Amino acid sequence: MTNNLSLFDSMGRRQTMQEKYKQQMKAYRKKKMKTDNTPYLPPDGAEEVFVMNSLNPEEKLKAKVLKTKEKQHRLIITSLACPVCGEGMTWDNKWEAFVCSKHGKKAIYEIVDTD
Ligand SMILES: [Zn+2]
Repeated sequence: MTNNLSLFDSMGRRQTMQEKYKQQMKAYRKKKMKTDNTPYLPPDGAEEVFVMNSLNPEEKLKAKVLKTKEKQHRLIITSLACPVCGEGMTWDNKWEAFVCSKHGKKAIYEIVDTD
C-alpha cells in the first residue's frame, strides 16, 4: 500500500486529513499525559501535608504521606493516610484530590497550603 501522504509537502502547507488526524491524536495524547496532576511532595520533604475536606472547607487536617514516587526529579504523593480513619488514600485525577471511602461516606480531601 502506498500512502498518498508523500504527495503533500512536508512543510505543512497542505496536509491530508489522515495526517491532520494523526497530529491531533498525538497532541491529544501528550496533553492527556500532562493532566496527571498528582501533587508533588512539598519541597521541604515534610512527611505530613495539610488537607481540607471538600465538604467542610473550614477545617484543615494533617495527613500523613504514606507513599511517594519520583517523577521528573521530584517526588509526587501517591498515597496519603486519611486524616479520619488512617487508611491509605490514592490520588483521584478526576476529583483532583485524595479520596477515602473507608470510613462512612466518601470523603474528598484536597491538599492545601499550610499558611
Ligand atoms: Zn477515611
